[in-house]
Amino acid sequence: MRQLLDYCESHAGTIVETIEALVRLESPSTDKAAVDRCGREIAGRLRAGGARVEPLPRDARGDHLDARIDGTGKPVLLLGHFDTVWPVGTLERMPLRRDGRRLHGPGTFDMKAGIAIALAAIAALRDTGTAHPPVHMLWTTDEEIGSGTSRDAIEAAAREAAAVLVLEPALPGGALKTARKGCGEFEIDVHGVAAHAGVDPGKGASAIHELAAQIAVIEQWQDLERGVSVNVGAIEGGSRPNVVAEHARAIVDVRAPTMADARTLDSRFRALQPLRPGTRLTVRGGFERPPLERTPAVAHLFSIARDVASVLERDLMEGATGGGSDGNFTAALGVPTLDGLGPVGDGAHAAHEHVDVEQLPWRAALVAGLLHRLASTA
Ligand SMILES: [Zn+2]
Repeated sequence: MRQLLDYCESHAGTIVETIEALVRLESPSTDKAAVDRCGREIAGRLRAGGARVEPLPRDARGDHLDARIDGTGKPVLLLGHFDTVWPVGTLERMPLRRDGRRLHGPGTFDMKAGIAIALAAIAALRDTGTAHPPVHMLWTTDEEIGSGTSRDAIEAAAREAAAVLVLEPALPGGALKTARKGCGEFEIDVHGVAAHAGVDPGKGASAIHELAAQIAVIEQWQDLERGVSVNVGAIEGGSRPNVVAEHARAIVDVRAPTMADARTLDSRFRALQPLRPGTRLTVRGGFERPPLERTPAVAHLFSIARDVASVLERDLMEGATGGGSDGNFTAALGVPTLDGLGPVGDGAHAAHEHVDVEQLPWRAALVAGLLHRLASTA
C-alpha cells in the first residue's frame, strides 16, 4: 500500500498533465466531434497504460470507451464519463488556471480528474507489480444528459462485476458517496376550455387554474425530512388576461432516497385526476435514475475502502447526495457500488469549478489500494 502511495506521489505531475490535456479537449455531451477528440486522447493514454480499448460507437453521441486490463478473479468496474456541461469555447472565459493548490477549468472536477486518477491507479498497480482483479473500465459520453446511449452498456458491465467504483467527484472534504437519491422528471399537461373572460367566463374551464390546483396537491408530497423533494421548476400556459386559458403545462423535478419512495411518487403522479370539470390532464415522465441506496453490500464495500484509507494514514468519510450518477444504475442492480472516488474540489457545473491538486496522488493510491484489496477478498 505504502508503495502505491509513493508511486502516485512521485507521479503527481503526470496526473495534473493528464487532467490538463483532457480539459483542453472540450467535450460537451451534445458535440460528438468534440467528445470523440477527447475520447481518442483517453484511449491513447489507456493503451499506453496497457489496457485493451474498444470504442463503443454511437451515431449522435460521442463513442463510449470500454477498456480492460487482465487480472485474477472477478472483474471490478471503474466507471465515469468524459462529457461535460461546458460548450466548446468555454476555456476562453474560464481558462485552465493553477491557483495555489487549486487547478481551475471546465470539467476538471466533474470529472476529468477522476479519469486521471484511475489512469494513475492502474499505472501504480502495474509498475509496482501489485496484484489486482481484472479491471474493466467504462468511460462514457452522455452522463450529463441522462446516459441514454450508455445505460445498457453500463448495466451489462456491472452485471459481470464484483464491485463498481465510480470516479465521480468526492463530497466536500473528500467523503465517498454511499447514497444518492433517485431522480426523475414529470410533465403535467393540462387542457381546458377557452372562453372570453368577460363575456362568457362560466363557459370556460381554465387550464391555468386547474394546473395551480394540481401544483398545490403535488407540493404536499414533498417530505424534506425523508429526503423526498418535489420541485415545479417550470410552468407555462395561457395566452392573454381576458382569455380563459386553454392550455397549461408544468415540469417537475423529483428526488427520492429509496426505491419505495420513488415508486410511491411515480404512482401518485400517474393517478392524478382533474379537479375541475371541463379540464383534462396528461402526465408524462418518470424516474430516470433509481436511487443508490446504502445497502449492506454498499456499506461493506465502504468499510473496505475505509480500511485501505487507514493503511494510507487518513480517515475516510462517507455521505449522501441528492444528485444522481451512473452509479445509481449499477447499485440498483444490486452490484456493490462506491461513488465519489474521484477528485476533491468544488464547483461542478459552476464557474469556480476546480480540483485540489495536492489530494490527487492520495486519491489515486486509494483507488489502487482498493483494487488490490478487492483482488484478495474476491
Ligand atoms: Zn459527473
